Amino acid sequence: MAKRFITEADVSGKRVLCRVDLNVPLKGGVIEDDTRIRSALDTIRWLLDHGARVIICSHLGRPKGAPRDDLRMAPIAARLSELLGREVQTVDQVTGATVTIAVDHLNDGEALLLENLRFDPREEANDDSLAQELASLADLYVDDAFGAAHRAHASTEGVARILPAYLGLLMRREIEALSTLLDHPDRPFAAIIGGAKVSDKLLVLDHLMSRVDLLLIGGGMANTFLFAQGKRVGTSLVERELRDQASALLAHAKQRGVTVDLPTDVVVSDSIDAASGVTRSLTDIAKTESIFDIGPETAARYARRIASMKTILWNGPLGVAENPAFANGTTTIARAVADADAYTVIGGGDSVAAIQSLGLAGTIDHVSTGGGASIEFLEGKPLPGIAAIPEADPPEVKS
Ligand code: ADP
Ligand code: MG
Repeated sequence: MAKRFITEADVSGKRVLCRVDLNVPLKGGVIEDDTRIRSALDTIRWLLDHGARVIICSHLGRPKGAPRDDLRMAPIAARLSELLGREVQTVDQVTGATVTIAVDHLNDGEALLLENLRFDPREEANDDSLAQELASLADLYVDDAFGAAHRAHASTEGVARILPAYLGLLMRREIEALSTLLDHPDRPFAAIIGGAKVSDKLLVLDHLMSRVDLLLIGGGMANTFLFAQGKRVGTSLVERELRDQASALLAHAKQRGVTVDLPTDVVVSDSIDAASGVTRSLTDIAKTESIFDIGPETAARYARRIASMKTILWNGPLGVAENPAFANGTTTIARAVADADAYTVIGGGDSVAAIQSLGLAGTIDHVSTGGGASIEFLEGKPLPGIAAIPEADPPEVKS
């Protein structure tokens, strides 16, 4: 069954509480990357264009339940206003008298941004009293905060239980893209999974195993698989305790006819901060060396395989891409995914950062705005922020 989307609601003249994810990276009060603000624009614009009085809310950073001047929403409101081309008003409270007055003064087609939700300890505690206070501000609720959908907080799950609740347009894009991967991918379908640890991705690997044709593994997690195969990986990051689970995953893949490719050459060093690494065949790693990237031969092989796919999911860098000395694998794979004649989806904070820093995000069909949320979705878990929204009414049967 499909969820209820805001486009089905009559919002004209209504007060609409709109939960978005404006949790952008800040450095010294300056917004480093405004992708999340841009991703929230469609729903906000739709509401304003349809004459709603829009009460926008989001969290920002980790203030841990108390106000912090460096995490106030004012600079976010300024950028949001700029991008919308309309003024977004602000208040310096999450709820309370000041907020109620500001909401009362809103006209149709005007927007107000509440203060950082996480200044209030009741937000992350999913405290009903905060959900009630937020709900009392509005007639309707729309949740478009995909990046926060895996958390049951007062502004996501709590308030959806009280007000008539809908999903926003970003939520629709995210759900459609990720469901396509899980439910009806064009074949062949490859998942490229990297990142630091198998433990972070075990459930995703397991869930994808029954859906993909090809699994390309890189990053620190490849080491655990190589270790499980009895290969020597020196001082690399390895989760030795996951040896049996890694072996079981490989066996499971074999049973299902899923091809799993692991690195055959790697870039090693004795330091993660090294200015350059050494390329070695997997059989030649010294005891004191660690693997920090897939090697050029592996990267080229992965890229060739990627070129023949019809659906591609990429999550997790193939090496320690923060250090240019170990970024080649990630860059090669990013280019291959960008060039592929396939439906392409990228999820995960670090992989998204990698594709953006290469200026290739525009070539990807769907770049997910949710790191943790996209992973949990792909694990097949219901996300509380989505689960709390009612199903759409069934279409009327005409007699
Ligand atoms: P994403 O955010 O895209 O889901 P992860 O957070 O799972 O990705 O993984 C990113 C992290 O993995 C980066 O900090 C990177 O340095 C680390 N990493 C990748 N390859 C290795 C490796 N070979 N050894 C140690 N750490 C690695
Ligand atoms: Mg990450």
